[in-house]
Amino acid sequence: MERLWAPWRHAYVTSASGGPPDCIFCQSSEGGVRFPSENGVRLQPDPSPDALVLVRGRVAYVILNKYPYNNGHVMVVPNRHAPNLASMSADEQAELMRLTRHAEIAVTEAYAPHGINVGINLGRPAGAGVLDHLHVHLVPRWNGDTNFMTAIGNTRVLPEDLGESVKRLRPIFERLANEEETGELAKIAGKI
Ligand SMILES: [Zn+2]
Repeated sequence: MERLWAPWRHAYVTSASGGPPDCIFCQSSEGGVRFPSENGVRLQPDPSPDALVLVRGRVAYVILNKYPYNNGHVMVVPNRHAPNLASMSADEQAELMRLTRHAEIAVTEAYAPHGINVGINLGRPAGAGVLDHLHVHLVPRWNGDTNFMTAIGNTRVLPEDLGESVKRLRPIFERLANEEETGELAKIAGKI
């Protein structure tokens, strides 16, 4: 039952970083989006981290959580292996918030949640699954989702296939990036 109240705790718990070479977020910050491929190769059951990257900014990116608490659980991550907000440059601060805003819009559009947890866990006692590489979680929430899971015991609602989540979310992030370039995205600021 504990997990119902600790949505971040299980994120990448088996990939806890021992430093940059092993850091899942450092690995995902390199290279481009390779997945799904253009020749129609099916999504693998255990796709590589890059497969889950939804959009890349200049100094940060958005990635699906491989072990989602709910469908549409995404994370905004700086490219640089940096442990906390104190060590973020002005550029990184700005882009983390910019992409967090995009993620809020995308998750809302794709999943119509009733609410979203937006959070950063710094350090192991706080529930960070990957230590020393800051990341912002966005977890869509629905009215009664914890109650429902309580009712059925310790069984979690099976999340949507990750490949399906990528297909849903990636086009929205791409569109938002385009709308940002044309100034369209700025127009909704303050109106929602
Ligand atoms: Zn890292």
